[in-house]
Amino acid sequence: MPSPVGHALAGAAIAFSVKPLLDSRARPTFRVALISSMLLAALPDADLLYQPIHRAVTHSIGSTLLVTIVATAVTGWVTGRGSLGFGLFCGLAWGSHAALDWLGADPTPPRGIKVLWPFAEGWFISDLDIFRGTERRQLFTWPSIVYNLMAVAQEVAILAPITGALALLRRPAKKTGSAG
Ligand SMILES: [Zn+2]
Repeated sequence: MPSPVGHALAGAAIAFSVKPLLDSRARPTFRVALISSMLLAALPDADLLYQPIHRAVTHSIGSTLLVTIVATAVTGWVTGRGSLGFGLFCGLAWGSHAALDWLGADPTPPRGIKVLWPFAEGWFISDLDIFRGTERRQLFTWPSIVYNLMAVAQEVAILAPITGALALLRRPAKKTGSAG
């Protein structure tokens, strides 16, 4: 399954995709949205701190709904107005994590993620192995370091062109003419 680098790149791609919808004085600035999206996309793997729950609740539709609700409520509280749009954006960034993990390789049983929790308990994976996954056991041994660097390089090769193209597409239009 992808490293935090791959997940953060996907989060950035989502932020650039929805940038026109986020550009408004009433909502957080795009820089805040971009950083939030990259963090939210990588954050579900914080469950690695407690292995027995890894790839379960934080990788599910249940936690995605919860993040959407909490983000909507917090944004409404901070800005003084409802912002379901920003809440949905945060949910999308969080949910992208499960999507990328589902597309990745996972040799360790139970393979996959509990994506349908709390509606179903099973583990799901696409078997497409688009991302080779990372080695997280003996993290600081040379074989693991080399393997993980190759995994990150592959993620960057796949995702950076997509994120880069979206960033170019969404770059601010050049101002024409001069005022006064
Ligand atoms: Zn994960």
